[in-house]
Amino acid sequence: MPEYPDELIRDLLRDGLSSEELEGLQRQDKDEDRFEQVLRLEQERLEWPERILLCLQAHLYVVEKDDGSKVVRCDCGQEFGDYQRNWKESALVFERAGADADAIYRGPRVADPDWSILREFYCPGCATQLDVEVVPRGYPFIFNVELDLGAVELRRQ
Ligand SMILES: [Zn+2]
Repeated sequence: MPEYPDELIRDLLRDGLSSEELEGLQRQDKDEDRFEQVLRLEQERLEWPERILLCLQAHLYVVEKDDGSKVVRCDCGQEFGDYQRNWKESALVFERAGADADAIYRGPRVADPDWSILREFYCPGCATQLDVEVVPRGYPFIFNVELDLGAVELRRQ
């Protein structure tokens, strides 16, 4: 069972690994305690008094507040509300023409520009781009992941 030093995992979280190092990590078995190790390192880095329950995606975390509520929070501190709501509803949204999507998707995967739009989601607190989606016009915001934090709690016991 491989065990990686904190320094290596910190570099991984900050995109500080070379492509060779990253490939080497990807080919090996995951540590059984990687989940807990990442939470611990992010908790140390962000220095939030509230407990981080999980890392949702780059820049976004689910945090348990003192009143027991569980919210999505950006690493800048901006909160997006209850984790069971789609955080995109509280983000800044920039919609672009579907034709711009061919900068992201090419060839047979490109969406028909007449039918699609490109949506960019930004944090209102730090202006970091948090997500991009290409969808048909009028399509609701995609809810990337619906969480079952009960399962997370079980795993941590
Ligand atoms: Zn932010």
